Amino acid sequence: MNQFMMKFLLVSRSSLRVNRKILQISSCPNFSVLDMSIESVRDIATSQQKAEGKKTSGKDKKGPAKSTVRKDITMGQVKSQVFRRSSCKTKNPIKVTLPDGKQIEAEAWKTTPYDIALGISKGLADNTVIAKVDGILWDLDRPLESSCNLQLLKFDNEDAQQVFWHSTAHILGEALERVYGGCLCYGPPIENGFYYDMHLENNQVCNGDFPVIENVMKSAVKEKQPFERLELTKAELLEMFKYNKFKVRILNEKVNTPTTTVYRCGPLIDLCRGPHVRDTGKVKALKVVKTGASHWEGDVTAENLQRVYGISFPDSKQLKEWERIQEEAAKRDHRKLGREQELFFFHELSPGSCFFQPRGAFIYNTLIDFIRSEYRKRGFQEVVTPNIYNTKLWETSGHWTHYAENMFSFEVEKEKFALKPMNCPGHCLIFDNRNRSWRELPLRMADFGVLHRNELSGALTGLTRVRRFQQDDAHIFCMPTQIKSEMTGALDFLKSVYGVFGFSFQLKLSTRPEKYLGEIEMWNEAEKQLSDSLDAFGEPWIINPGDGAFYGPKIDITIKDALRRSHQCATIQLDFQLPIRFNLSYINEAGEKVKPVMIHRAIYGSVERMIAILTENFAGKWPFWLSPRQAIVIPVAPPFSAYAHKVKEEVFSAGFNCDDDIELGDTLNKRIRNAQVEQYNYIFVVGAKEEANGTVNIRTRDNIVHGEFTVSHVIEKFRYLRDNRIRESEKETF
Ligand SMILES: [Zn+2]
Ligand SMILES: [Zn+2]
Repeated sequence: MNQFMMKFLLVSRSSLRVNRKILQISSCPNFSVLDMSIESVRDIATSQQKAEGKKTSGKDKKGPAKSTVRKDITMGQVKSQVFRRSSCKTKNPIKVTLPDGKQIEAEAWKTTPYDIALGISKGLADNTVIAKVDGILWDLDRPLESSCNLQLLKFDNEDAQQVFWHSTAHILGEALERVYGGCLCYGPPIENGFYYDMHLENNQVCNGDFPVIENVMKSAVKEKQPFERLELTKAELLEMFKYNKFKVRILNEKVNTPTTTVYRCGPLIDLCRGPHVRDTGKVKALKVVKTGASHWEGDVTAENLQRVYGISFPDSKQLKEWERIQEEAAKRDHRKLGREQELFFFHELSPGSCFFQPRGAFIYNTLIDFIRSEYRKRGFQEVVTPNIYNTKLWETSGHWTHYAENMFSFEVEKEKFALKPMNCPGHCLIFDNRNRSWRELPLRMADFGVLHRNELSGALTGLTRVRRFQQDDAHIFCMPTQIKSEMTGALDFLKSVYGVFGFSFQLKLSTRPEKYLGEIEMWNEAEKQLSDSLDAFGEPWIINPGDGAFYGPKIDITIKDALRRSHQCATIQLDFQLPIRFNLSYINEAGEKVKPVMIHRAIYGSVERMIAILTENFAGKWPFWLSPRQAIVIPVAPPFSAYAHKVKEEVFSAGFNCDDDIELGDTLNKRIRNAQVEQYNYIFVVGAKEEANGTVNIRTRDNIVHGEFTVSHVIEKFRYLRDNRIRESEKETF
């Protein structure tokens, strides 16, 4: 599999916590890796003075950040060079077009996005985090160079958040170096905040240090240090960063241009492509969140690093809200609820492979049944395919060259085999099993097959990052002219599934990257069909230019859960290359042999991961149809145990998850309370009256009392709730 295929994988399985953008840069899904735009290093020579002058905390007593004063390039020289370079540019008049079409007169190499914002209003200028000039993120104080389209992004924009957190990562780096004096490595923004990796020889960051780090960060914020963009040669940078072997490695391995940008921020010079917020004072609220261990570039054989995570906001109210959500999220953690509700667990004897207990397996199978029932309506056909394949298959598909280290492989009768990490190559073999005619297309092949990926044990996280999983995977083989209708079908499919769970979602179309394979006409036509189908779909969507895989454009779908957290599950990915690798063809209407287009698509993505998301989304309060505890019968006293058991059997035989509680150790109220805590959707209390009438007295886990109903009425109602997948079933009247 080629690296762009991997990109597809990465996206479809990206962990709950890892930022998608970072993953896409990575060539290995195990690592939440480097974002070249974010390395930051500081010029200790200048910071030394500050560190000595400002003892912000007790930690500083460990000594100033680094005692080594380095020979540095004087900033005066650098600045004058940069100034000379820009001052000789002609300041022509230019036109700046705003998103609403309004045009503003400006001067090239002089007017900045900030000037434009200020010209509109002070409030806008204050609230703008970053600019976008012709689609490229641009520092607010960087002069515009020619006539352009300008967007002024506030913190509610995802790109602006990344810039904001990236900028705060510099502040964290500055504080870490000041407090610990370690060697800084990478400090990228992530989905929620940012982190910084640091190498420490004989020291450790512990939770008790957080307030100290925060205080040092806050002092940098107070100083409103501007981020200044400069360009230096590689030789100058190597000299400047020679004290930090990691930065030297980055320079030697990743920088292959004669000059590169650095940013100066207060006492700090950062090796970084930017852009940033205007100054550190923009960060109004920040918090050091946690610390963990990592390795240089995620390689377990490389140096140990300490990773410090943080979060920041332009408004302290936002931090408060974030903290509230974190607390709520901790309560909802699927690993915790999974244990408490006896749904699933992990065992050290099979890391990353989950054990689903009966109630967890019920959820698992019900989710699959849901998709399966949709398949019948939507013209998908289910197939069952092998788990192990001779590596020759993976050589054909390209996985062996690019993905072998993420596959479990072994020898059988002197031939090498591997467990499948995905279904696509197997489906190509089915397609190729006989001659295909255009009349058979689109051919929609679905597979819930078990997949294995050799994730590093250190990267495994609950159900969100596993080694063994299943997907609601399908591959559609179609004619190029059918792309639009297949897209429309796929979008409708995901809308109806996500609607059942109550998820809202966002759509993003990623188009042809710079390096792509295939004919450009094919790409243009496919992209047009994709955008047409998105327009017709009627939900808002955005375009992500150049972010497609090199073998085809794709649509990424991000869902929002009850805590407004985003998860990327579904992906619809066009693939022009796999049919070529497997030499697939069909006979078209004109009788010619031609290549089909392949569409990879999944709605849940990994079922395991979807269970994690759903557990946390519902906080363990499963909707009736998905609930492993739909009802429990509680007798008011021992003489009614037999009747309680009879009712339970009747409801259970009708196909529902019904239990009875005939232990009778506790009071009636306590037993009802326990059942509610265990999240039984309905509690049936039975006594003399109910037994005489053949009824149950119904109340819900939220203590809504519905009253007395016959068992047959209850079963009828249950069928309605289940078959219609009613989400807030307990609010329905009986
Ligand atoms: Zn930076
Ligand atoms: Zn696939």
